[in-house]
Amino acid sequence: MIVGNRVGYQILKGGNSSFQTLNPRLNEFNDVHIYEATDDEIILAIELAESAFYEYSKISGFKKSLFFQDIVQLMESQERELYELYCCESGLDQDRAKVELTRTKNQILNFASFIASDEWRFCSSEIPDKNSVPSKPELIKGLFPLGPVVVFGASNFPFAYSTIGGDSISALAAGCPVIVKSHPLHAGTGDLIAKIVIQAAIKNDMPEGIFSNLNSNDYSLGEKLIENPKIKAIGFTGSINGGKAIMRLSQKREEPIPVFAEMGSSNPVIILPSVLRDSAGLWSMNLSNSITNSAGQFCTKPGLLFLVKDEYSTELIDMLVNNVVSKDFQCMLSSSMCSNYNKILKEREGFVKLNYRQGDVKPNYAKPTIGICNSSVFLENEFLAEEVFGPFSLVVECENIDSLKRCISSLKGQLTGTILTDSNEELIETGIIEILQLKVGRMIYNGVPTGVEVVESMQHGGPYPSSSESQTTAVGIDAIYRFVRSICFQNFDHKILPEFLK
Ligand code: NAP
Repeated sequence: MIVGNRVGYQILKGGNSSFQTLNPRLNEFNDVHIYEATDDEIILAIELAESAFYEYSKISGFKKSLFFQDIVQLMESQERELYELYCCESGLDQDRAKVELTRTKNQILNFASFIASDEWRFCSSEIPDKNSVPSKPELIKGLFPLGPVVVFGASNFPFAYSTIGGDSISALAAGCPVIVKSHPLHAGTGDLIAKIVIQAAIKNDMPEGIFSNLNSNDYSLGEKLIENPKIKAIGFTGSINGGKAIMRLSQKREEPIPVFAEMGSSNPVIILPSVLRDSAGLWSMNLSNSITNSAGQFCTKPGLLFLVKDEYSTELIDMLVNNVVSKDFQCMLSSSMCSNYNKILKEREGFVKLNYRQGDVKPNYAKPTIGICNSSVFLENEFLAEEVFGPFSLVVECENIDSLKRCISSLKGQLTGTILTDSNEELIETGIIEILQLKVGRMIYNGVPTGVEVVESMQHGGPYPSSSESQTTAVGIDAIYRFVRSICFQNFDHKILPEFLK
């Protein structure tokens, strides 16, 4: 399979440089050869996006909604090919691929119905009053798209946070053309999805340039896209380091632009004493499944577990360790992810007791691991709070509830925070809710943080550094508001107002 760059409605392969994707399970290259985008192809994609913007920003929500429905139909007709490529390039299994595709289709359909009428774009109006002193003008405010958006997807969600994931579809719904910087680990899957989006765009007479998909195996393509003055916003899903680098680049521009970066998170879980007494078995099982789901490669994986050391706590820890270390060794997304996982665990070795199963591992496979340390070590070594991407979680044993609260207060912003308790009185007495609430975007009561519902009430984004803009969400239809701005029309003749404001 030869993959070119989808620049508007063309497929371009003008460069000399190409790369292949890896099948991490087999540790063999896939028969997917990807051409990296040349400078000319990058410029052409940006110019097409800019010229498409004027027409696309005026296209009715109804027409865009038909376009979105066709994307979903085409995805359904090509499910088999999509699953095959997804599994070969990510090492994730077919069940996971199916769940993720369903979730991605639902997100697209949610936007299709949300924008079917343009009502969501109307904000407010003020009735004029010529008799007041001074006289009051008529004011009508509405929402308008920002302009061409660049989207960086994450490796761990080839469908849901990538080519036509939450960022791309919310930007397109808002009326912004999208240029995707395709993720090199799943560039074949990305290309097949891009082909589908473009087929649907052509069928629905969308202007050429509303969607392009460009490839590269290094950072230079992303940097060139961000630096270009015609780009007006960035959607990013990925690591904290990647997100921070992209925010810095956007701030260096003469015209800084918004970066909606959804980054990593350790997702603290607070296990209160009543759980240790009464439901340790249940929660050690639920947590171990959540920690190792898809090899722990979820931004919402529970990576930090806090509990108060008492006569019952060792029992839960022992059960958790047993459950986690008895899991099969797990295939990670790439060899660099796997070596990074091993490197990070090695760095923690001197500070934390690591529990894992001995044995030979295949290339790209990780050992599910539980680390254990006390709260003093945790508080003295800030790096222990950072995300470890892979099947690992750190149990922090606290002397008492006050030291547990100090640990939570020391955390940076997180996507989620979970509280496990068998007693509401205990929860209220500890005052944990108020402390945790300051740190997270989603609070979970007696559950696990993995599994993000794609609905309007979801909040996926927390205080920095889990997200760059904690006021927004990356999941659910509210994600659209990241890619619009308000314009107020003062005293305009209604006949010449945009249709949705009349
Ligand atoms: P990543 O390494 O940060 O890569 C994401 C994208 O950004 C890639 O296209 C990458 O390009 C690009 N990139 C990274 N650093 C860059 C830089 N300095 N300059 C220009 N481009 C740069 O992340 P990942 O490994 O794909 O994904 C795993 C991470 O994503 C985990 O930390 C996970 O928690 C997080 N994640 C967060 C969410 C969320 O919603 N908050 C969802 C899913 C995943 P190259 O590939 O060319 O390097």
